[in-house]
Amino acid sequence: MSFRPAADFAAELDRSDPLASYRRQFHIPRYRDGEEIYLCGNSLGLQPKTTERYVREELEDWARLAVKGHFAGRRPWMPYHELFSERTARLVGAGPQEVVNMNSLTVNLHLMLVSFYRPTATRHRILIEGSAFPSDRYAANSQIRFHGFDPDTSLLELAPSAGHGGLDMDEVEAVIRSEGERLALVLLPGVQYYSGQAFDMERLTHAAHAVGAVAGFDLAHATGNLPLQLHDWDVDFAVWCNYKYMNAGPGAVAGCFVHARHAHTFALPRFAGWWGHDKATRFRMQPEFAPMPGAEGWQVSNPPILALAPLLASLEIFDAAGMARLREKSLRLTGYLEFLLDERLAEAVEIITSRNPAERGCQLSLRITGTRSRAREIFTRLEQTGVTADWREPDVLRVAPVPLYNTYTDVFQFVEKLAQVLSTAC
Ligand SMILES: *Cc1c(COP(=O)(O)O)cnc(C)c1O
Repeated sequence: MSFRPAADFAAELDRSDPLASYRRQFHIPRYRDGEEIYLCGNSLGLQPKTTERYVREELEDWARLAVKGHFAGRRPWMPYHELFSERTARLVGAGPQEVVNMNSLTVNLHLMLVSFYRPTATRHRILIEGSAFPSDRYAANSQIRFHGFDPDTSLLELAPSAGHGGLDMDEVEAVIRSEGERLALVLLPGVQYYSGQAFDMERLTHAAHAVGAVAGFDLAHATGNLPLQLHDWDVDFAVWCNYKYMNAGPGAVAGCFVHARHAHTFALPRFAGWWGHDKATRFRMQPEFAPMPGAEGWQVSNPPILALAPLLASLEIFDAAGMARLREKSLRLTGYLEFLLDERLAEAVEIITSRNPAERGCQLSLRITGTRSRAREIFTRLEQTGVTADWREPDVLRVAPVPLYNTYTDVFQFVEKLAQVLSTAC
């Protein structure tokens, strides 16, 4: 597709965008007498306008029905989390039994590691990236110590590939192969939070399985951003948060995937609680724990209904829009951002995210070249013009045009404003 760097061209793309109406389903933060250019959905997604009603209805049912709300509410709380199964499954390419929404991301990661990291004297290594999100590293290290091993020898870190902003999948695969029987688990992102690189999850899963290791993914930046096929890719487990691209609110209840292959492996150790118990007999309150088959069997506590309600509003929107259509727009929207940056700011801005659209989601990470000492100041001035993006030390600006609510005009104006700030910041 050929682009033009002009406001009327961006407006034309917006007019012919089949998903344009979805923007009106979200609250867009205000800036002066207009709207902000919000490009930070990779950090906290915007609030759907239906969220308030979903939360209010649960508050009303609680006021009106109290304990009877578990069975008699508009959406009875007892099976409430089951309302999410089909929709979540469609979102990540799974069967309904393979997914559950519970806890938060890092807690789910720990629960998964309890079951899927089973180190032995010879096979005890966890492979992560050197620039892994800190929480993932802390979780992996603490699990290694919990089993009496030492992160110095059991945590294996991938160094960024030479002359390449991200990781080269050939190299990652080669490391997995050479680790072979020492490797217990591969824990990698679907989309890297800093560089925006999308990993080839199917290929890495097969590489891990070929050496007898488990493949787990952190999809914090992938869910709601890329179409996923977790079941067909044969991924063992995955975890994600629902407050970034999923728009379910700050600290939202998180998601978890366990492949159907493990649905009935009750011999796997797990940290159990009553909500993971077989629902047919849960209320017999027996001393023996009998887990439910599938991902639901990893639930510990009964779900926080008020915290889950926003996720229902969010999933309905994703279901209506569909990940395939969202991805189609996303490729064009981020492609337009890339085009404008190259056209207007090639000298001043280096795009560190892959130039191959198949290797990224909607986010582009930008390094403002030659301005390291002033990079933070540039970001602050950009914010003063009504742009919300995300700043990461020392000099990276992360920009995420989200296909559900961002426009081509947002992208155009962002580049205009960045150009303005850069031309006056010296
Ligand atoms: C956002 C993010 C998290 C957040 O973890 P929480 O448990 O939700 O606080 C973890 N890992 C990655 C890769 C993230 O991007």
